[in-house]
Amino acid sequence: MLAENTGDFGQAAMDLMERFDVPATPNNYQVWYSYAANDNPALKKTMDILIADGRRFTDAWCDDLYFQFFGKADDTALVAALAENVEESIAGTIAQILEASEDTNQFGNALSEVKDKLDSLNEAKGETKALIAALLTATQRMEQRTVKLERQLNQSSHQIQDLRNDLESVRTEALTDPLTGIGNRKAFDNYLRENAMNAMEDGTDMCLIMCDIDHFKKINDQWGHQIGDKVLELVSQCLTETSDNRAICCRYGGEEFAIVVPGQQLDRACDLANLLRLALSEKRVMNRASGTTVGTVTMSFGVAQFMFGEPLPSLIERADTALYAAKHGGRNCVRTEADLPDTGGEQAAVAG
Ligand code: GH3
Ligand code: MG
Ligand code: MG
Repeated sequence: MLAENTGDFGQAAMDLMERFDVPATPNNYQVWYSYAANDNPALKKTMDILIADGRRFTDAWCDDLYFQFFGKADDTALVAALAENVEESIAGTIAQILEASEDTNQFGNALSEVKDKLDSLNEAKGETKALIAALLTATQRMEQRTVKLERQLNQSSHQIQDLRNDLESVRTEALTDPLTGIGNRKAFDNYLRENAMNAMEDGTDMCLIMCDIDHFKKINDQWGHQIGDKVLELVSQCLTETSDNRAICCRYGGEEFAIVVPGQQLDRACDLANLLRLALSEKRVMNRASGTTVGTVTMSFGVAQFMFGEPLPSLIERADTALYAAKHGGRNCVRTEADLPDTGGEQAAVAG
């Protein structure tokens, strides 16, 4: 019965993949099998939305779906290597335990031998003494073994704890921009993908703000790279603090930042972008070493709203185009996709 169903789902998955022109890769098969078997409600809902919207299952979407529902591809090798170490360490402990239990066995055997002999020797006091001495030796050996085992177990549990910490810090490091301490491009990709999937599952909105420091090259040229770095730190701090828990800010690269705004439509995300723009423009940057004022730093902002089922690179491209428009509009300003001549109508239809 079960095998029959399994076969049916497999066939259904293959049929669906053919119908939607999805390449027959193992990852895609896993996604479509799960859809056919209806064993993951979140995946089912997301796929239903994509199908209802008549979206094409591009390679990028197929990758996103697999990544979202079946694992973190990049971390797999790392986790596997660390898990192997943990396993080795546990295997060592188990070997110790087995050794100890063998000793316990011997101890038990020695005891029963002593008992048997004592039973048959009523008056043989000298021999009783010798037997008791043997018993004591066995007990001491047992105690030593237990102490060793305990030490070994402690060591192993510390080792496992260290490995866990290593794993955690490697993960954090891989997702953090070392200069500003906020999420890097990889973290941004993860957040965006995660929030896009959530938005589709829950039927909620999501926006993306791309922003870029104005004339940053001039700051570097005039004040040096170190001050430039300080400005990047200040900007990231200002963006993170001002957006608080309303958005997730990451360093997209160079002097460009990307901000994911969950649960908001274009106009609210535009308000947030303006709030960030003002907060930054009000800061005065000081060169502490020389006591001179670097002056104000401004940024230009581009905002776009996620359309259910669209490939994420198109969302990024629309926000980037809006940012480009802000640069051309004189900098230190916000432009949304609604301000762009080509995509304004499409977005208005989705947002409405
Ligand atoms: P625009 O207003 O058009 O954005 O002008 P811009 O000068 O900001 O842009 P441009 O692309 O001409 O220059 C960006 C500069 O940012 C060039 C590059 O050296 C600098 N930069 C990129 N990453 C870093 C960094 O990590 N530290 C420092 N100090 N500078 C950086
Ligand atoms: Mg710039
Ligand atoms: Mg730039």
